[in-house]
Amino acid sequence: MSDSTPTVGAGRRAVTLLPGAWIGPEVAAHAQRVIAALGVDIDWHVFPDPDRISAAALADARQTGLVLKGRFDAQRRPGALPPTVQLRKDLATWATIRVARALPGSNARFPNMDLVVIRETSEDIYAGLEHEITDGVYEAVKVTTKAATERIARFAYAYARAQGRKKLTIVHKSNIMKKSDGLFLKTCQAVGAGFPDIQTDEVIVDALCMKLVRNPSQFDVLLTGNLFGDIVSDIASGLAGGITASPSHSVGDGAQIFEMPHGKAEDIVGQDKANPVPMLRTARLMLDAMGEKDAAERLRRALFSVTEAGIKTADLGGSAGSKAVVDAIIAAL
Ligand code: ATP
Repeated sequence: MSDSTPTVGAGRRAVTLLPGAWIGPEVAAHAQRVIAALGVDIDWHVFPDPDRISAAALADARQTGLVLKGRFDAQRRPGALPPTVQLRKDLATWATIRVARALPGSNARFPNMDLVVIRETSEDIYAGLEHEITDGVYEAVKVTTKAATERIARFAYAYARAQGRKKLTIVHKSNIMKKSDGLFLKTCQAVGAGFPDIQTDEVIVDALCMKLVRNPSQFDVLLTGNLFGDIVSDIASGLAGGITASPSHSVGDGAQIFEMPHGKAEDIVGQDKANPVPMLRTARLMLDAMGEKDAAERLRRALFSVTEAGIKTADLGGSAGSKAVVDAIIAAL
């Protein structure tokens, strides 16, 4: 993972902003406003295309090293990856980190939950390698390599150690996919042997889902392949309160991508109803990764205090509009 994000001018950093479509532009504008109020000077390179990530946006992302992203209105085309998956690939990211931590006052099922899902994102069946064998028969290819598995396992254990986490659970289905998931499990365990300070466990994915919904506090860090990680991170977010719980951070050999963790919310576009908090938690993560630790911490406290005070949008049971929530957050900074 590169830490050499280029800077633009003294103390100014450039960020590639891809607001996307639907409520993406609204919540992106709220994030820009809050970051400005924090006094962090960002040179926003905005690419407003709602339905595609242009070559210019991609080139810019490679140069800035930081992407803040909404949701794209892209048509599904056979043989083409969705824009988000294509972006991760084009920017050579291979790990996505989702920390599921409940926002106080968000009515989470498990308010004390604090769980990390680290997901390999360069291969597995999620890479979209599919073809038609004959009429009415398709085949999807699940690729698992030792090299990519070692890479994600080393990253996950190093992350766990750096964050003071105690236990890492390898998620797999090697009872059925004995070769591919067998390789994933064995490779992760071998890497884990070099981290004796982190307890290693393993669990079959279906059993994990059952255990998670009953008692998520028995897990600390989950290390998963691409498809299981996609599903498990949404379960974890749901248990910790839904869209406010778990921003998405993708890293790899190039740029880092910070993505708002919700869908299009087509029904509330342009009505001052979009909850700004999920995008603001995403922006907080980005500030932290940029080294703006003080601003990130001030934003975290403001988000928590405003939600705890009951200043919330309707999806969280409140009656405030998006702008009123943002105003309250800025006042609390
Ligand atoms: P997608 O179809 O894009 O994959 P989805 O099916 O998960 O997304 P959405 O349309 O994003 O669903 O949202 C489901 C419900 O949650 C909708 O009623 C939507 O308004 C609401 N919702 C999603 N994001 C937000 C937000 N940021 N603020 C308020 N409500 C939201």
